[in-house]
Amino acid sequence: MNVSIEKAIEILTDGHPVAFPTETVYGLGADAWNPDAIRQVFDLKGRPSDNPLIVHIASRNLVDDFAADIPDHATKLMKACWPGPLTLIFKKKPNVLDLITAALDTVALRWPSHALAQELIFRAGPLVAPSANKSGRPSPTKASHVTEDFGDDLPVIDGGATQIGLESTVLDISELPLRIYRPGYIDKKDIERITGLDVILTQEAGKEQATRSPGTKYSHYAPEATVRWLEEGESPDKKNALYLVHSLQAEEQPHLLHYHQDYKKMATELYDRFRQADHNRLEEVVVEPFDAQTREQHPITEALVNRISKAIG
Ligand code: AMP
Ligand code: MG
Repeated sequence: MNVSIEKAIEILTDGHPVAFPTETVYGLGADAWNPDAIRQVFDLKGRPSDNPLIVHIASRNLVDDFAADIPDHATKLMKACWPGPLTLIFKKKPNVLDLITAALDTVALRWPSHALAQELIFRAGPLVAPSANKSGRPSPTKASHVTEDFGDDLPVIDGGATQIGLESTVLDISELPLRIYRPGYIDKKDIERITGLDVILTQEAGKEQATRSPGTKYSHYAPEATVRWLEEGESPDKKNALYLVHSLQAEEQPHLLHYHQDYKKMATELYDRFRQADHNRLEEVVVEPFDAQTREQHPITEALVNRISKAIG
């Protein structure tokens, strides 16, 4: 159900969740100081309780309410990247709810840049806001995706299609070396340039990472259709598949979308394409792999590889 900002603030203040747009994907917001409201978010999403939530704020001062320690490199990153698609993991203050942090000793904070998100958070206060999809499904990049997952009873602020289309970069600044738990629009090189420090990015979520950022261990983002990589030498011509390609020589057709190396556009559209494949009852979504040179030259492809690999499962 579409709601205005005024109505959304009323609902949040009453202790219930509201979905709203950010520049990355739609979030399912709830008052970060209200355990009952946060529990509703976990229940609605079917989210495992050991998967911590990101707290969304709309001013630099609010970091002090949640973070126990703000190292210099974090200050540099906040100055350079906030508001924007970068989530920072800080050591937490003791009063931050365990429900948010899955009882870790850290808390994830982000100040989104979307104007509607900023106004909502500024007026309603800090909000936890995981992606507004049922757990495991592709994240919503349109208000209609939210309604598809939760039905029309869930209030949504409709801000049109989101600009970036993949979730924020999640960066642990609480310890050195800095570690990216989830690659996104703001990439390793950006972070190294801003902080002057080395940054670790691992595509394979190992056991240690699964303990430190539990969300990374779950299979995610998947449509009903099977997602897989296009095999070497395979021609993209099956009738019941959707092909997403970027570099190979192929004619654009209804079941083959050619991004012509526009990887940012591919990121923006990926989840909508996953959902469309299901609407069209296709059996497969087949994606052209990204070679090492492409990954080096176009860091957004690291985020694409991450989400597509998790959709493959
Ligand atoms: P979502 O909001 O559904 O896009 O997922 C939030 C992501 O942030 C998950 O991958 C979580 O594991 C990660 N995250 C949230 N809080 C923390 C934290 N305190 N420490 C490490 N990772 C976190
Ligand atoms: Mg999510």
